[in-house]
Amino acid sequence: MYGKTQVFSFKDVRLVKILTIIGARPQFIKAAVVSRALRKTGALEIIVHTGQHYDKNMSDVFFDELHIPVPDYNLNIGGGSHGENTGRMIESIEKVLLKEKPEWVLVYGDTDSTLAGALAAKKQLFKVAHVEAGLRSFNMNMPEEQNRILTDRLSDLLFCPTDTAVKNLELEGYSNFKSKLIKSGDVMLDAYLYYSEMAKKPVAEIGNKFALCTIHRAENTKDKFKLNQIFSALGELSLEMKVVLPLHPRTTQLINKQQLHNDFPNLNIVEPVGYLEMIWLLNHCEIVLTDSGGLQKEAYFSNKNCVTLREETEWIELVESGNNILAGANQEKIILAIKTFEKNIAKSRALMFGKGNSSEIIINEILSN
Ligand code: UDP
Repeated sequence: MYGKTQVFSFKDVRLVKILTIIGARPQFIKAAVVSRALRKTGALEIIVHTGQHYDKNMSDVFFDELHIPVPDYNLNIGGGSHGENTGRMIESIEKVLLKEKPEWVLVYGDTDSTLAGALAAKKQLFKVAHVEAGLRSFNMNMPEEQNRILTDRLSDLLFCPTDTAVKNLELEGYSNFKSKLIKSGDVMLDAYLYYSEMAKKPVAEIGNKFALCTIHRAENTKDKFKLNQIFSALGELSLEMKVVLPLHPRTTQLINKQQLHNDFPNLNIVEPVGYLEMIWLLNHCEIVLTDSGGLQKEAYFSNKNCVTLREETEWIELVESGNNILAGANQEKIILAIKTFEKNIAKSRALMFGKGNSSEIIINEILSN
């Protein structure tokens, strides 16, 4: 469906100082491709790692494998509550900003690090660019939804991955604001294409026929009933094929405590894997089951069906095109979704997320503003 990794073409190469704020796993992956392209322009990038994700397999592995430059600042702020983390990040990021005085502050996605970066920057009148703008789940109880709505409003350049994202912002009245909306496509497609050539088989024993599953969203992990429903469905599926679950140790602890996987020997819980291993798993699995935002798209990139373990999604085009089924944390619906996909109905393979040249579009836009 997609062409080879693109050769960059930058319109306006000039020395500009950009301060990038990252802190969580999906941000490392997104920033990796943009940073790589940015360095080719001669721009000076200062990287701030807030410390939101700090374990070796949630942070270091991405810097090492994806060749992200070592952060210039490590704020080491993680492990606290949302309010505590966000507050401490704003305070520390402000200090870095006043010292570095960048022309642009670049933030990604929808985490506490994203909001803290955008807010600290805007209060000091620095220009903010938001990559992955305009996404909405319309569920204000999600910390991610709160973060993305506020970050969008604070940003000067809003890089929207999809038509839906642009439409969401237009409906919120963004045509009346001074900020600029750019449909850039999705940097995660850039990442998937570029790193696919380096994909590697995980060390853990995986087997031939397997389903790939990730669970990390608070709405699922903090709710015993929902977690139970998901694991009952996975148990049922595991009678047909192995289910590989790269899970954060905190989720694994919860599952162990509730003894959710003891009866199902084919549920293979492993440590979180690096992105190169994740791409291998995506390319070799039979089906994806996830509550992750990123993985829903990666299932599409790798031509796999996806059962989403949530009630709603920001990537609604994948549901409308039949590539993704929203099953929530409901055992019956999850199994029904798997069975529906077994019928092999024709699905769209349209370029909904751009052509894999989003980082180039983003950088060209920043350099010309
Ligand atoms: N990912 C990974 N290893 C894992 C689980 C996820 O590399 O063990 C990658 C995944 O392929 C995707 C990103 O992390 O690119 C998604 O992160 P996450 O699910 O934590 O966040 P979300 O996308 O929901 O914001």
